[in-house]
Amino acid sequence: APKSKGPVFARAASYEDKTAITDDSGAHSYKQLYSSSLWLAARIRAALGCDTGDVGGKRISFLCGNDASYTVAQWAAWISGGTAVPLYRKHPPSELEYIICDSQSSLLVAGHSFADKLEPLAQKLGLPCLALPPTSNLNRLNEVDTHEKSTIDDWNERSAMIIYTSGTTGRPKGVLHTHRSIQAMVQCLVSEWAWSKDDVILHTLPLHHVHGIVNKLLCPLSVGATCVMLPEFEPQKVWERLLSSKAPRVNVFMAVPTIYSKLIQYYDQHFTQSHVRDFVKAVCKERIRLMVCGSAALPLPTLRRWEEITGHTLLERYGMTEIGMALSNPLKGPRIPGAVGLPLPGVEVRIAMNNSVSTTIAEGNHRETQVRPGLEAKEGELLVRGASVFREYWNKPQETGESFTADGWFKTGDTAVYKDGVYWIMGRTSVDIIKSGGYKISALEVERHLLAHPDILDVAVVGAPDAVWGQKVTAVVELKQGKNLTLSDLKIWAREHMAPYTIPTGLLLVDQMPRNQMGKVNKKELLRHFFS
Ligand code: ATP
Ligand code: MG
Repeated sequence: APKSKGPVFARAASYEDKTAITDDSGAHSYKQLYSSSLWLAARIRAALGCDTGDVGGKRISFLCGNDASYTVAQWAAWISGGTAVPLYRKHPPSELEYIICDSQSSLLVAGHSFADKLEPLAQKLGLPCLALPPTSNLNRLNEVDTHEKSTIDDWNERSAMIIYTSGTTGRPKGVLHTHRSIQAMVQCLVSEWAWSKDDVILHTLPLHHVHGIVNKLLCPLSVGATCVMLPEFEPQKVWERLLSSKAPRVNVFMAVPTIYSKLIQYYDQHFTQSHVRDFVKAVCKERIRLMVCGSAALPLPTLRRWEEITGHTLLERYGMTEIGMALSNPLKGPRIPGAVGLPLPGVEVRIAMNNSVSTTIAEGNHRETQVRPGLEAKEGELLVRGASVFREYWNKPQETGESFTADGWFKTGDTAVYKDGVYWIMGRTSVDIIKSGGYKISALEVERHLLAHPDILDVAVVGAPDAVWGQKVTAVVELKQGKNLTLSDLKIWAREHMAPYTIPTGLLLVDQMPRNQMGKVNKKELLRHFFS
């Protein structure tokens, strides 16, 4: 199992003048980030009336853009001994208030352009609010002695962050990670995906989920690499930055499936000349060493088209707020489309019978998986154990208790299968496993099939309530431009491609699939909206 080395920033400070982050305001070295963090940490302590140098795990909610100020706020919260709670700039005030109150934050920190948004909330809730200077001035906060040592040394079991889940299946839950579990999440990815100080990652994801926080920011910062941050995802800007020969040259990219499909759309519309397409492919093949996809299932047409465009087979992996990344296709070696590979180092997984968590179908770690004879290729709930697993749902002892088995495995709520030597995610047990006429049908599998239909651009399959069948396989479909599709057309096509009992018996056309920033469809909401 990966060894814990204390908080991420402690090592980061030793990379000195190396560029840690570039953003719209320019380059920020590790030293500058660390120094600004010390400056802010001192202000956090003062605002909380703390003179011992340790605010004792108090929650500090912070709202920053995708730039260096995010890291300064996060590190400062840690250096002062606090628990960092990242807020998201696109959340409406009601959502911000929910997170600030649910996490029982004692202090708010606002990135320069977000003070207007946070200050009214701070006033309403009676909390102090510190506003950061513009990102371009962060580097000037050098008045503190960077050799100043934190008085805290027992880092590992200390609370580091509360990250809220995506809220796909209910109200977002606060997931409490310690410095040890964050370090474990970072460490297994650093070793498995071979992060090095020479890497340059392009960062375009929101910074309130593990994908944006850990995989794309803490991993590079923990090895002395450089993170190129764009304020927001815009296909044109991403393509420009990926293809630019300007230093630092990007060689790693990670995103959610919808971002890849938007990049493909842009490419298809704007890069029409063959010499441009050759250039795109050549640059991507030569310069980029790794392209990762996750947070939601990666559609096969997206994977294939991306391969054609860039020559890269996207590396799909599976993870959750509660456990960081758990399963991953290999850096080297075959990546199997639709599968999520094998456990990362330090992660143990189990597939257990849904009705009885004690019945193990398969059990595996980084090196090998064993399947109970007679239960090969059987589906069950995915359980996870390891150093990267969270400590608790904040203030939810009952939910925390219910989410672990008696012998300490975390129940992911996702259904998985071990087949052909790798793990496959079949979807969320609660909404993606459709029970219809005695069959159990994986919505993700039906979606995979339907995406092969020439007229279908995006699809979400749900089990609509049905008096006769219990649930009815229903496809919510976004069509490609100018296309038309009826249920009977779809059924005729499906008979050639799918098992009879998995063929949709309902079709609902939508103008646009309701996917959130992380590319997820809230199926409970979809069902409530259309089928209740
Ligand atoms: P909530 O827990 O609030 O309902 P959420 O589960 O969507 O929201 P996250 O922790 O951000 O919140 O997402 C984790 C979930 O994302 C996993 O449980 C899984 O269902 C899904 N997921 C992540 N990666 C993949 C993948 N590669 N393929 C399929 N599903 C994935
Ligand atoms: Mg979840």
